[in-house]
Amino acid sequence: MTNVVWGAAPDPQAIAAHVAAGGSPFDFVEPPDWFSYSCFDTFERCPRQYAFRYLCRLPAAEPRPAMDFGSAAHGAFEAFTRERRERLARGEPPPTRADLEHCFESAWARASLPAEADAETWRRRAEPMLDRFWAAEPADAETVGEEIRFRLHLPLDTDTQVVIAGFIDRIDRLPSGAVELIDYKTGTAGLPEEATSSLQLSIYALACRDVLDVGRPERVTLYCVEQSRRFSAERTDAALDALRTDLAARVRAIRASDFAPTPSPRSCGWCDFMGLCPMSER
Ligand code: SF4
Repeated sequence: MTNVVWGAAPDPQAIAAHVAAGGSPFDFVEPPDWFSYSCFDTFERCPRQYAFRYLCRLPAAEPRPAMDFGSAAHGAFEAFTRERRERLARGEPPPTRADLEHCFESAWARASLPAEADAETWRRRAEPMLDRFWAAEPADAETVGEEIRFRLHLPLDTDTQVVIAGFIDRIDRLPSGAVELIDYKTGTAGLPEEATSSLQLSIYALACRDVLDVGRPERVTLYCVEQSRRFSAERTDAALDALRTDLAARVRAIRASDFAPTPSPRSCGWCDFMGLCPMSER
């Protein structure tokens, strides 16, 4: 995690005010040595948004019901496939559709969404998603693991090493013996090409090959669970080797950044820090 230069943890609001006025967060905290896909994505959209979130450590200003819904869905599918894996290992029958419902209810209860005014709308939206997930799940699916944490060590030079960390939604064993990496997505289905271009899937595939000891995935899949659409692509060894170089370049760019804002309706519309940022474009 980012190391703090000040003895005690500096006040996030104080760093943020400094950054909002054009100052460098590195006046208060050390350059980061921990990254994730979300870090790279946020920095690409707007370096200042990255600084507010990952260096100032400002919390999100508003609840995000769509994200809460996605978390509940992820939690339900994770619990369901884990239950199936464990039951099959014990020689027991696999879980049923009612068990899937139960998994969702448990995940829903843990989310903050039930307290929202439009909770019932979101709750109703879950039903067709659960139906589609259940119908599309192969009876013989062999899940290797869910919510798999990884830490990929990436050398920048002989003295500096950083960590790329993340959680992979799901890894399945395929009939070939190789694995399929699956990332669940709620909300609008993207385009099939996203499976090919996704940096997130590439980082996860690199982790599968170089950290998790499951080998290079035979395919990486974006699973749009509300539409029951799966978009799959491959990642070659050459592409994963090149990704290491690309990630190191991204890390260097962040560590050398002045975090100048790059406002746009697309970036600012989803930014939690519009109230702080004099450059916001609503
Ligand atoms: S409001 Fe816009 S310009 Fe300001 S930090 Fe957020 S995304 Fe960047």
